[in-house]
Amino acid sequence: MQIAIIGAGVSGLLSAFELIQHGCSVTIFDQQHAGKAASWAGGGILSPMYPWRYPAAVNQLAQYGKALYEEYNAQLYPITQIDFQIQHTGMLIFDPEDFAIGQSYAQRHQEPMQYAELLQGQDLHQLNPRVSEQFQQALYFPHLSNVRNPRLLQSLIAYLKQQPQITFVENCAIQKLQIQNQKVTAIHTENGEKFVADQVVLATGAWSQAWAEPLNLSIPVKPIHGQMALFKTPENWLPTMCMNKVMYLIPRRDGHIVCGSSMNDFGFDNTPKAHIQQNIVDAVFEMVPELAQFPLVDQWAGLRPSSPDGVPYIGQMPEVDNLWANFGHFRNGLCMGPASARLLRQLMLQQSTLVDPAAYSPQRLIQNALA
Ligand SMILES: Cc1cc2nc3c(=O)[nH]c(=O)nc-3n(C[C@H](O)[C@H](O)[C@H](O)COP(=O)(O)OP(=O)(O)OC[C@H]3O[C@@H](n4cnc5c(N)ncnc54)[C@H](O)[C@@H]3O)c2cc1C
Repeated sequence: MQIAIIGAGVSGLLSAFELIQHGCSVTIFDQQHAGKAASWAGGGILSPMYPWRYPAAVNQLAQYGKALYEEYNAQLYPITQIDFQIQHTGMLIFDPEDFAIGQSYAQRHQEPMQYAELLQGQDLHQLNPRVSEQFQQALYFPHLSNVRNPRLLQSLIAYLKQQPQITFVENCAIQKLQIQNQKVTAIHTENGEKFVADQVVLATGAWSQAWAEPLNLSIPVKPIHGQMALFKTPENWLPTMCMNKVMYLIPRRDGHIVCGSSMNDFGFDNTPKAHIQQNIVDAVFEMVPELAQFPLVDQWAGLRPSSPDGVPYIGQMPEVDNLWANFGHFRNGLCMGPASARLLRQLMLQQSTLVDPAAYSPQRLIQNALA
């Protein structure tokens, strides 16, 4: 089966990875270089932040992220020599209003990744001596990890480019779907070229609303700007991820610390803003004051593909038999990525699914259009 995937972020690349392992050939298109949009810009935390604030459908897919990335890293590393560094740092959350709810979530759900304990005073500062003395309590999630997402993308792209069943078409925007008798019969590029495939997957992230008008649907996915600041400290300087009021620090193995983030609707403008950088820096210095000694070496912003409740659209698009969705992952597309791609592949190839697909069904796009 010949499949066209539009969008080479984590959603499109992992979909391609899943599909070629099950006998499909894939052409993957991106309007820019592969793996340079939200999936590159994100932090790579392998769990929704404050999972109790999300629908069960988000946490259900996110649970698979860490284990599947470990499997993929083991499979890809010998071929690509790129380690995507899954860091088992655990996370400290300092928001007191989340302590009780976080613990009761952990007890009710028994998801190993969400096991949490409340740390006090000395225990807290022994675990992470960089934390400000103003914090004397934190909820500790020892099993939370992060993936170095730019390397994950590099590794996936390097691996996929070596596979004969895959063709990459980069710097090429798909402008039009040609539809006849409820089937996509061709896709057209902005340069007027035409490609034909048996099945077409939309993995177009924050740009997915562009398909609403031609498909006569309401696609409530829009770009939400999220900014990051990068510090460089010595290796192993910060032992855990830290989070307070939705601002976080993510230590990488080589001492880089990714700090974020923000949420703003600036349309498709993805330039970093000075006032947002200041907010991030203030928030992370409050958690870890000694970070101020180290250089801020980079900053950037990316466009999250927001969806109303953060539940992505995965499955067959309404009214078009060979058109599929894997978009709308909002704040959690990296942790939901592996399970989202697996679910998509299982639905496309009519295999049994790892989770009940109903919650992710793109049929919701019709309900939106009628509402
Ligand atoms: C600051 C920030 C922090 C984040 N932190 C985390 C985190 O810690 N953990 C987590 O799980 N998630 C995180 N996320 C969210 C996560 O990055 C996204 O949910 C995820 O990357 C979405 O992946 P995607 O492949 O759907 O979209 P993208 O990576 O944006 O890829 C979509 C691709 O489609 C291409 N495209 C669009 N339209 C067309 C077209 N017409 N033709 C051709 N190509 C097209 C684009 O060029 C793009 O490359 C964060 C995001 C940001 C911005």
